[in-house]
Amino acid sequence: MAIESINPTTGETLRTFEPLDESRLEERLATAARVFGSYRTTDVKQRAEWMLGAAALLETEQEHLARLMTVEMGKTLASARAEVAKCVRGMRFYAERAGEFLADEPADPAAVGARQAYVRYQPLGPVLAIMPWNFPCWQVIRFAAPALMAGNVGLLKHASNVPQVALYLGDLFTRAGFPEGCFQTLLIGSDQVERVLRDDRVVAVTLTGSEDAGRSVASIAGSEVKKTVLELGGSDPYIVMPSADLAEAVATAVTARVQNNGQSCIAAKRFIVHTGVYDEFLDGFVSQVLSLRLGDPIDEDTDVGPLATQQGRDDLERLVADAVGRGARVLCGGVTPSRTGWFFEPTVITDVTPEMRMFNEEVFGPVAQVYRVAGIDEAIALANITTFGLGAGAWTTDPVERDRFVDELEAGAVTVNGMVASHPELPFGGIKRSGYGRELSANGIREFCNVKTVWIG
Ligand code: NDP
Repeated sequence: MAIESINPTTGETLRTFEPLDESRLEERLATAARVFGSYRTTDVKQRAEWMLGAAALLETEQEHLARLMTVEMGKTLASARAEVAKCVRGMRFYAERAGEFLADEPADPAAVGARQAYVRYQPLGPVLAIMPWNFPCWQVIRFAAPALMAGNVGLLKHASNVPQVALYLGDLFTRAGFPEGCFQTLLIGSDQVERVLRDDRVVAVTLTGSEDAGRSVASIAGSEVKKTVLELGGSDPYIVMPSADLAEAVATAVTARVQNNGQSCIAAKRFIVHTGVYDEFLDGFVSQVLSLRLGDPIDEDTDVGPLATQQGRDDLERLVADAVGRGARVLCGGVTPSRTGWFFEPTVITDVTPEMRMFNEEVFGPVAQVYRVAGIDEAIALANITTFGLGAGAWTTDPVERDRFVDELEAGAVTVNGMVASHPELPFGGIKRSGYGRELSANGIREFCNVKTVWIG
């Protein structure tokens, strides 16, 4: 795939970039290794000052960056602004809390026969971050903020369709005062990733993206015995029980599905509704989906913009056609509007069965599947049937049901009476084929640390 910025609303190519050639790539890797040698010894208070500076820059430049994201990958301007604000919050969180997360942890010396024993968290070195286009700023920042605060240096291989955001982020940290080379953007295609991963100077890799990309990167990293964190796809269930506040459950369901034009790993994708409230839920859900305004994401009153890439739109069309061809019912949407850009009508589908592709695959676009279930056992079984295990949501006011959902839903996060979302304060990641490792919170900053045991006799 060429490294190109193409506006998904118009199909217009905005800018094209040449991938780094071998000599420039080598230069960046050498810089990362050299800078790590001194950066790792900087004081965490100093890093926090730089991080706060970067957060302030981002805050000042919010509108510029938000517009860049909107024209590069099609998210609505309002959601792009919110994404920048979330990045600022994440950076401030790590600036304030990293010292505490990285402080030595004393152990009981008597229990291990020492005079002194403790755990020290130390940085590992240059970490490669392979990131997707869907939250082009937040996905990067949620890696970069903890990594830099821990004393690691970052190498960003961003998705090939968001090079302008990648270049902006590549400059941000240096402009804020971090030593030059602490965080570098590598404009490379995915075919150049193996060369970087096998380089001895790169010590670990984190990837957010598809299962195929994760499998490929993890197998290369595995053969090099390098640490990996993988945040892959999801097919999150959203369960609605009779005791739920139905009006709130319906309104949240719409946002949870169409946020980011339907392209979020933690979007609710499978709506599993108790038969007692199924008809009422479906009526409300379909009418609210029908009222969504599809349009140019730069317009303030647009709810849903285009898919980020033509490929993404084509994949979505094929998934819907497959389901319809095998007997699924489309209650609204289901078509590609006749307009320029990679749009797809927000869609609600029922009667989805296991032989349909969308029953098993991640649906990355504004298409909701709604299932009817007879009770909680069936709801949990259907929720867990997927190979994914990223997030899961359930709506109930019954404490017994709530406890069962918390215990039995197979996911890295369970949200009750709300929308699955990431927060800097809480760990984020999946189980099963949604990946492994955690981002955010104390867990996230320690993923790329040497957890060093110190025993002093
Ligand atoms: P990809 O997984 O292909 O892309 C994500 C990142 O991985 C990009 O930087 C990409 O680079 C890179 N990449 C892709 N293949 C490889 C590889 N073999 N080795 C190393 N790096 C690689 O996602 P797509 O954009 O193609 O989307 C496809 C599907 O993936 C979506 O429909 C969705 O299901 C899922 N997805 C999930 C995301 C999530 O948040 N969990 C985010 C994005 C996608 P390049 O762009 O240069 O190919």
